[in-house]
Amino acid sequence: MMNANATGEQTVVIVGAGLGGGNAAVTFREEGWRGRIVLLGAEPGIPFGRPPLSKTYLRGEEDLSAWLVKPADWYGEHDVELRTGSTVRYEYIYSFWSDQYEHNLEYVGFARKWERIVLRGDYNSRKFLAFYLTQGILQAAFGLNRGGDPELDPDAELRTCQDLIRGRIQLSEAALADDHVDLRSLNTTP
Ligand SMILES: Cc1cc2nc3c(=O)[nH]c(=O)nc-3n(C[C@H](O)[C@H](O)[C@H](O)COP(=O)(O)OP(=O)(O)OC[C@H]3O[C@@H](n4cnc5c(N)ncnc54)[C@H](O)[C@@H]3O)c2cc1C
Repeated sequence: MMNANATGEQTVVIVGAGLGGGNAAVTFREEGWRGRIVLLGAEPGIPFGRPPLSKTYLRGEEDLSAWLVKPADWYGEHDVELRTGSTVRYEYIYSFWSDQYEHNLEYVGFARKWERIVLRGDYNSRKFLAFYLTQGILQAAFGLNRGGDPELDPDAELRTCQDLIRGRIQLSEAALADDHVDLRSLNTTP
């Protein structure tokens, strides 16, 4: 919610310096936000719209100037701290659960794509964990009738999976699959 009376001591931090993030910063400033605005983006450039990338720009028919949210100077002139090349680590790893008839499903993290799925537990008994990995890093974990409640139980296996996802730890597939290996022992973050 906009507070036009914000003092310089109040800060809004926007993660993602694309079209959405850039326009959010512009809207805050143009609609009267007087506090700090910090715009963090993983990419090197200033916010711009992507549509020409796969069309006119790709064909060399247009540069990106008409697609910039604002010209490069605008950010400094309007006290918007644009920090490019800054990737913000997500601290909170989301979970999702659903009870389907006699089965409990739990999912933590999010994997749109993955390279490998590693199972721990017994697939046939319908009680197992599935780990979604890309380059040995856990992206998401799924529990069928196993893994506990990651939101309520600090000892739940899926709570440990949230830690492994957050820590972006390089994991051994063999260790993940081995029920004798405590998942917590794989968390090497300090
Ligand atoms: C090649 C291409 C062509 C497209 N053509 C069209 C089109 O013709 N029409 C259309 O409607 N849409 C098109 N799109 C979709 C278009 O990208 C979106 O409509 C629009 O860019 C979404 O803007 P956004 O700001 O939400 O996300 P994005 O433009 O994806 O910006 C998100 C930004 O956040 C940064 N970011 C993400 N996570 C973090 C983090 N943790 N820390 C720091 N930075 C982070 C990303 O690096 C990125 O710069 C196209 C997309 C592509 C890639």
